[in-house]
Amino acid sequence: SPKDIAASQPTPMMAQYLALKAEAQDCLLFYRMGDFFELFFDDAKAAAATLDIALTSRGEHGGAPIPMCGVPVHSAENYLARLIKAGHRVAIAEQTETPAEAKARGSKALVARAIVRYVTAGTLTEETLLDSRRDNMLVALAQTGGEGTGEIGIAAADISTGRFETLTLRSSDLPAELARLRPSEIVLPDGFDLDLPEAHPFDRAAFSSNRAEAALKRLFGVATLDGFGQFSRAELSAMGGLIAYLDHAGKGTLPFLAPPVRKTSGAHVAIDAATRESLEITATMSGARAGSLLGAVDRTVTGAGARLLAQDLSTPLMDQELIEARLGLVQLLHDDPLLRDQLRAALRALPDIGRALGRIAVGRGSPRDLGQLRDGLNEARMLRERLGRLADQPLLLQQLLPALDGHGALVGSLSRALVPTPPTETANGGYIADGYDPALDELRRMAGDGRRAIAALEASYRERTGIASLKIRHNGVLGYHVEVPARSADPLMQPDSGFTHRQTLAGVVRFNSVDLHEQAGRVAQAGAHALVAEAAHLEDLIESALARKAEIASAADALARLDVAAALAERAAEGGWQRPHLLPQDGEGPCLQIIGGRHPVVEDALRKEGQPFVANDCCLGADDRLWLVTGPNMGGKSTFLRQNALIVILAQAGSYVPAQSATLTLVDRLFSRVGASDNLARGRSTFMVEMVETAAILAQATERSFVILDEVGRGTSTYDGLALAWAVVEAVHEVNRCRCLFATHYHELTRLAETLSSLSLHHVRAREWKGDLILLHEVAPGPADRSYGLAVARLAGLPPAVLKRAKDVLNRLEAGRAKTGGIAAGLGDLPLFAAAAAQEEDKVDALRAAIDLIDADALSPREALEQLYHLKQLA
Ligand code: ADP
Repeated sequence: SPKDIAASQPTPMMAQYLALKAEAQDCLLFYRMGDFFELFFDDAKAAAATLDIALTSRGEHGGAPIPMCGVPVHSAENYLARLIKAGHRVAIAEQTETPAEAKARGSKALVARAIVRYVTAGTLTEETLLDSRRDNMLVALAQTGGEGTGEIGIAAADISTGRFETLTLRSSDLPAELARLRPSEIVLPDGFDLDLPEAHPFDRAAFSSNRAEAALKRLFGVATLDGFGQFSRAELSAMGGLIAYLDHAGKGTLPFLAPPVRKTSGAHVAIDAATRESLEITATMSGARAGSLLGAVDRTVTGAGARLLAQDLSTPLMDQELIEARLGLVQLLHDDPLLRDQLRAALRALPDIGRALGRIAVGRGSPRDLGQLRDGLNEARMLRERLGRLADQPLLLQQLLPALDGHGALVGSLSRALVPTPPTETANGGYIADGYDPALDELRRMAGDGRRAIAALEASYRERTGIASLKIRHNGVLGYHVEVPARSADPLMQPDSGFTHRQTLAGVVRFNSVDLHEQAGRVAQAGAHALVAEAAHLEDLIESALARKAEIASAADALARLDVAAALAERAAEGGWQRPHLLPQDGEGPCLQIIGGRHPVVEDALRKEGQPFVANDCCLGADDRLWLVTGPNMGGKSTFLRQNALIVILAQAGSYVPAQSATLTLVDRLFSRVGASDNLARGRSTFMVEMVETAAILAQATERSFVILDEVGRGTSTYDGLALAWAVVEAVHEVNRCRCLFATHYHELTRLAETLSSLSLHHVRAREWKGDLILLHEVAPGPADRSYGLAVARLAGLPPAVLKRAKDVLNRLEAGRAKTGGIAAGLGDLPLFAAAAAQEEDKVDALRAAIDLIDADALSPREALEQLYHLKQLA
């Protein structure tokens, strides 16, 4: 192990390596050696395995060969990306001096090295390492009060754009919030218990709320945080941990963070992890974007827009004014296709200025990033002019437009300073435009003159020596030199030829000459000075961009919002979607009335196969809150349930919806549960999970919630399942009183309609025609007439012999059922749900009264036994 080797007299280089490694024990250490990053010991083994590159060894230390592998510096990003994706963290140790400096310092051969940066999933800013259409969230958690009892503070940041938010919640709500944020990395104080692969413990002291307050004030240059809102201790502590962690990862260079936005938990619809998963809002169960609601809706044309749309759909709003404001902008763009097309074309050409700014802020900005700011901000100003001319500006547009303006001075200086398409690399210069700096122009002219002089030399040497194939070449080792074929080299070898021999290779011989040396020196010197001049300009330009980082970030946000609105308008126009109508909260009670609703994902899939989608209505109101939907498998029950939940999400995210019309009062919590056997894909298809999730709904759903329950109770035996489904429907109806769609194949449940006044029966229609089952996918009132199980099996291709046998078994069963009244036979005189609960309470009261009457000290053993029998009777 490295320790043993350290003990056994390592070489100076190994000693340096081991000291650096000790600073970064939980990381793979990228150790810079010239043009390579090298990894040693276990790091080398892990990296070689992940990257599928050769594992070799370097020398022997402590008697054992040291495993080693390396990646070239110029392509390191690609390797980093793969290591991060595989769950590794990487520390980058760079050379911090040149070999010449090391020598001058007296160090024989070893140059100084230091860790300059930690690369982790949550702290990436490189364009190539990030998915442009997804946020990359780093989350820090902190807890106040006792373990498991207190509040949890969350701080979440996307450092590639500066988005920064914080909120407080109860620990039971943490999984739902993490499901919304989908963090790439989670930082926790040591000792905080969270079993997730993204979680990473960090120094507890960094989470002190006092230190955090000071750090935040310093970061934003303010004397008090009051201007940002009132933060809880847990929030401060989490933000402090987040900033300390970023400081650590960047080795003192903090990324750009916008002032923290405090989220209140009632501001958006509460959607827990299981619901997100089952509704496939931003990703399908297998994790893909295609096939999710987001995939079916997304028509954004910029990365920032795509990221914002994903946020919007994961965080539907509870604030009616905000929703209407978004809808107002969507409507403007929906009703004016020309404006929409122009806007989208302009946005499509737009660089990702948010992320360019992010890279510049962490000191990894390139000339290309500045070029992106220039082009993006310039485009923003033109959009501002175009949109500012509109006569009727919706409220949201009025709010967005100012952010697009006011960057003229910066755009002007960037335009003057930079070439049209600046490079990512600064090493070769050439990014500062001609005419920006006369001194730089002069240096370039001198270098150019030198190069022309060298070209002239080539011609004159050819003439003088008579060697037509003589060439002046340039390489990294010799610099400029004269090259001739070996067979013509002789005359140049003569002492008085004016040429000095430098190198003989297989077919060619290379020389230097005084004139050439002189000109080459001029070129090199002018070139080096020009590079320095360009670098100085770059630094100034970066500084002037950073001086406006907050304004640039709001311009980026405004552009993303415009993109989302235009995309939703485009999607609505494409699919004939309608603006939802939101009812005031204090009206007749919760309502969800969707006429001609469709499921955007299923509809897309069917269209590809040339199949029509059958639109269906859903009308839930105060006196018809709960729809019990029965009908054959494959009849369209799940699709119907989900489409209504998705329409709610879309509406409250500020989108048009796939329906002829949709009228609703806002939903505060949304729940979706699917019976266990449909959940096989999740790998924990247990009945237990189904019941835990159902319990969460019964505990949390309010009168303003919307719940869809699909075949709940299926994960166990028929009797248990029916009994549980029955009790759950009753509880939802009587206690939660939320809007609910409940799909079931338990026909027996339809008897609940007799006792539950706000429950109504519906079924998906099917027909048997000449022995074939035809599924109409149409939701109609009333219970299904039969289950069609065998017909579905036949449709699925079950062998005729098996079907025949099943038919015989079914006939027997049905005969039995007719005799006994079926599995629900005993349910006729079941007391009502509320009555049952009341009965239970009466019983407890009677028991309590009887116990009160007992005088325990006065009882004989025989009397005590009698009392016991009496009590048991009462129970
Ligand atoms: P169930 O939940 O009743 O078993 P699903 O909702 O899973 O049925 O639907 C089964 C299939 O039927 C879907 O994959 C889809 O292809 C088709 N389908 C469902 N609803 C509709 C509809 N409204 N219009 C057309 N086809 C539909």
